[in-house]
Amino acid sequence: MKEKFAIGIDVGGTSLKCGVVNTDGTIEYTFLHPLNDATTEKAIIEAIIASIKQCADKAGGAVSGVGIGFPGIVEENIVIGGADNLPGFENLPLGAIVQQQTGYPVLVDNDANMMGVGEWAYGAARGCTDIVFLTVGTGIGGALVLRNELYGGYKNRGTELGHIVLQQDGIPCCCGGRGCFEAYASVTALISNYRALKKEPDTVIDGKKIVEAYLQKDPAALTAMNRHFEYMATGIAGFINVFSPQKVIIGGGISEAGAFYINEIATRVKQIAMPAAAEYTILAAAALGNKAGLLGCAATVFRHTA
Ligand SMILES: [Zn+2]
Repeated sequence: MKEKFAIGIDVGGTSLKCGVVNTDGTIEYTFLHPLNDATTEKAIIEAIIASIKQCADKAGGAVSGVGIGFPGIVEENIVIGGADNLPGFENLPLGAIVQQQTGYPVLVDNDANMMGVGEWAYGAARGCTDIVFLTVGTGIGGALVLRNELYGGYKNRGTELGHIVLQQDGIPCCCGGRGCFEAYASVTALISNYRALKKEPDTVIDGKKIVEAYLQKDPAALTAMNRHFEYMATGIAGFINVFSPQKVIIGGGISEAGAFYINEIATRVKQIAMPAAAEYTILAAAALGNKAGLLGCAATVFRHTA
């Protein structure tokens, strides 16, 4: 059988992560296309099309289609909006535009959905029919696979897993609401918590430094990380009670901290979630790192094109 390829374009606020992937999930060719000079919607679309052409040249012809992961709300290949770092992109038929200019079938979905699909097809949730995927970073993104299908809610407007409300009238969230899971459990929240506890104007603090301090039993880091584990477990227990997934996959840089990270959350989840709902649920770290989105774009193409 002739080998098939898909082109994946994972659109971020500062660059496009581009690549050619074969059906078994091997990345044959990949590069980053910086978006420094692309300050308009038109320039970003041109960058996407140029990157697809560059990928197509390397793939040598047998391309099944193009998958694009885009921040914000995407309905039927149309970017509805909500991508804060990218100008324009309101009710823009991105899929149709790219398809017309490249000749390939094009599938566009929300970037976190694409990451979840990547882990489902090629990573930590391979072979599962029901998964909750979370990516924990500056915010919390998520994806849901139910009965072997990606589920985005009616018209793909839902599964904003970072924005379930943990605290009524709680701290403000960037979504405009208050008390969201993301506002308490993101790495941004962890850093601000740690800073407040440390009471000293540290120069540069990131999640990695806090994890290092935690492992060295720094008191502020212990407190901040324990709060982070508790908030993570609280949100995840809610998802387990509703969906009873086979796996909850946690991605983002902090999930790579070590086995202790998932174990600490899993222990707390067991104490909070309903035992019957959690009986078959396994928590696991994501396996694909920052390639999950690109691989999910490719997997989406293989799932939806002949
Ligand atoms: Zn929110």
